Amino acid sequence: MTRKVIARKSRLHGMGLFACRDLKAGERLIEYKGKRYGKGEYPEMGDDGITKFLGLSDGTGIDGTGWAALANHSCDPNCELQEERDARGKLHAWLFALRDIKAGEELLWDYRLDIRSRKVAYTDWACACGSDNCRGTMADPKRIRGAKPAKR
Ligand SMILES: [Zn+2]
Repeated sequence: MTRKVIARKSRLHGMGLFACRDLKAGERLIEYKGKRYGKGEYPEMGDDGITKFLGLSDGTGIDGTGWAALANHSCDPNCELQEERDARGKLHAWLFALRDIKAGEELLWDYRLDIRSRKVAYTDWACACGSDNCRGTMADPKRIRGAKPAKR
């Protein structure tokens, strides 16, 4: 199988994930791997770990450590995360292409951070994706009630 993605420096933020070859809409790309957390458990918030924790729909979570966790956020994404349940009922998260993607394009998904799941208040969720419809935050718009996130 030809490799689909590669990690390298992003012009958006730190390292990013890029398409190695042309990708088709709906293609399954890479699993979001990392340390698993049980229902209601959250990792300590480090300076770098803030946007790596992925909450799953069953209340458990994954603190991303694999390549998929390098994918950056965009308010105008070309990828999305979808959950899949394995034979034992455990949820997994995979990055999928939302549309056809050209080789070399950066892979971006909309983090929609669940602010309520954070134990510690932080202001690191300001978005700088630069897309025309940027909403100014990586947080889930459903979680924002009027107030705009503070910018530093
Ligand atoms: Zn944005």
